[in-house]
Amino acid sequence: MIDIDKVRADFPILKETINGKPLVYFDNAATSQKPQVVIDSIVNYYSTINSNIHRGVHTLSQKATDAYEEARIKIQKHFNAKNSYEIILTAGTTHSINIVATGFTSLLNKGDEIIVSALEHHSNIVPWQMLCERTGAILKVIPMNLDGELVMSEYDNLLSNKTKLVFVNHVSNALGTINPIEEIIEKAHKVGAAVLIDGAQSCPHLKPDVQALDVDFYVASAHKLCGPTGVGMLYGKEAWLNKLPPYQGGGEMIKQVTFEKTTYADLPHKFEAGTPNICGGIAFGTALDYMNSIGFDNIAAYEHELLEYATKKLLEIEDLKIYGTSKNKTAVISFNIGNIHPYDIGSIIDKLGIAVRTGHHCAQPIMDFYKIPGTVRASFSFYNTFEEIDIFISALKKAKMMLR
Ligand SMILES: *Cc1c(COP(=O)(O)O)cnc(C)c1O
Repeated sequence: MIDIDKVRADFPILKETINGKPLVYFDNAATSQKPQVVIDSIVNYYSTINSNIHRGVHTLSQKATDAYEEARIKIQKHFNAKNSYEIILTAGTTHSINIVATGFTSLLNKGDEIIVSALEHHSNIVPWQMLCERTGAILKVIPMNLDGELVMSEYDNLLSNKTKLVFVNHVSNALGTINPIEEIIEKAHKVGAAVLIDGAQSCPHLKPDVQALDVDFYVASAHKLCGPTGVGMLYGKEAWLNKLPPYQGGGEMIKQVTFEKTTYADLPHKFEAGTPNICGGIAFGTALDYMNSIGFDNIAAYEHELLEYATKKLLEIEDLKIYGTSKNKTAVISFNIGNIHPYDIGSIIDKLGIAVRTGHHCAQPIMDFYKIPGTVRASFSFYNTFEEIDIFISALKKAKMMLR
């Protein structure tokens, strides 16, 4: 059970007013709000232990290093990785994907195939197109159906011994669809392909177990699960991380440097060149602690109730169409009302204090599939309420009258 008043008291921003109205924050799929413990963790870091890590012999540096490595272990435990050095701390999902995509340049040959899905975020399309340009590999796409689900029979047809990599998001950010990644991973492994799962949109709602999934790479951003921006993680199986070359050269990622030859540091440091986002990494660990204290089962159950309630209320509005109607989805609702441009709806309800996203949600291929320029997207979190949904619905009705 979620004690909603207690939870909301943890998030100082929820007391803000926007344009004179109480904030209704329904843009959680873009970034989540931060609880006080995460904000405190950032302030405490800079107030008490700020120092560079891994290099200093002095006490402060040791304290910062310990706190940073403790965060890595929290992340390892959260995702159930076998070893802490299989967790690479990155700048976020985009950075994590690029580490893998760049690393595969030396592992692919002309004519090899990479499979992505029609439901991808741009950050999960463009790096693979660039990889194909560098290597002559071919990009194949698992198509989607009108409910916003992947057509799995087509996936079977795309797989062959030419398939080297499969990249799919766990949950679509534009539609909320939860993809059948267990099946995707198992089938890819049968043809010897590696699988990367983009967990940016799933991790705020569920707790993936990378060993149970037997996934090769799993990536996420802290800022979508109550942590700060500019930090995220790349989980990779040890054998894969050893196979991939480093992404960036610099300090901290080397064993020995001479002008003739440099040898790389062991995992995870091989992929962590330069001074990292130390405070961000520590606060990422705090954010996971916070979410685990609420409990992912509680979060999923409560958000599902919000989703059902909002879906029912929205469908009572005439001419409103929801995109993404899979039974298996997180609390994301993408919709349009008649021919009204999503931007116009977004601007009017913003005047009423309500934050939603409008546009293509970095997933233009999905919009092209539905032949629409974009949608209004409301995405809920465990700190949202049924009352906020009521405010949202009456604001939409008002906007609809004004724009008709
Ligand atoms: C947000 C998001 C990304 C990009 O994450 P960044 O934190 O901006 O790097 C990638 N994939 C999906 C599905 C997302 O929702």
